Amino acid sequence: MKQRRGKKHSTGNFKTKSSVSYPLPIILQPSAFKIHPSDFRLQPSLFYPFFRVGIGNDVHRLVRGRKLILGGVRIPFEKGPLGHSDGDALAHAICDALLGAAALGDIGRHFPDTSRRWRNASSLLFLREVKKIIAKAGYGIVNVDATVELERPKLRPFISRIERKLAVALGIKPGQVSVKAKTGEGVDAVGLGLAVRSEAVVLLCMQQRSSEP
Ligand code: MG
Repeated sequence: MKQRRGKKHSTGNFKTKSSVSYPLPIILQPSAFKIHPSDFRLQPSLFYPFFRVGIGNDVHRLVRGRKLILGGVRIPFEKGPLGHSDGDALAHAICDALLGAAALGDIGRHFPDTSRRWRNASSLLFLREVKKIIAKAGYGIVNVDATVELERPKLRPFISRIERKLAVALGIKPGQVSVKAKTGEGVDAVGLGLAVRSEAVVLLCMQQRSSEP
């Protein structure tokens, strides 16, 4: 969008110290967040971290003798994910998405699988810790959207419980968490019942100004 000097734009704009105004979409207008326009009379770089999106994914092999846990909920099944922790692929994908959105590394960096501390650990613990990490960096969670790919069993009866469990671990409302379930349609490792896979996308919102732009 073309920048204008010193002239109000119909979708709202903000004047910076350099006298260059930045037209913003409706959703970023101060009235939408009850933020005073003076909050934006700052360096343009401070717009950059207001919202941040992150993506994460994870896959675990399914083996006999392991509990199948997704989003902290135990799913009755004869196989479960092989992993150092409880192998909760859904929680792991969300952790990576949250850390990625804040550019703070990944789950392996914060919870290495070489550490005995995380052996058979509940991945809800990872979610709670990651929430603290991103909060410390000044970010709050707007929403989480995730998909679990699993051939069997059907996850539909467990989805609401999973969403609530994730929301509690992240300290947000259930309506801010969406979990969807798909099968592998009989193809690839998921479709053959050999693995569980998950993808997640999150949106973070800056709650306080970070010292680093
Ligand atoms: Mg994992």
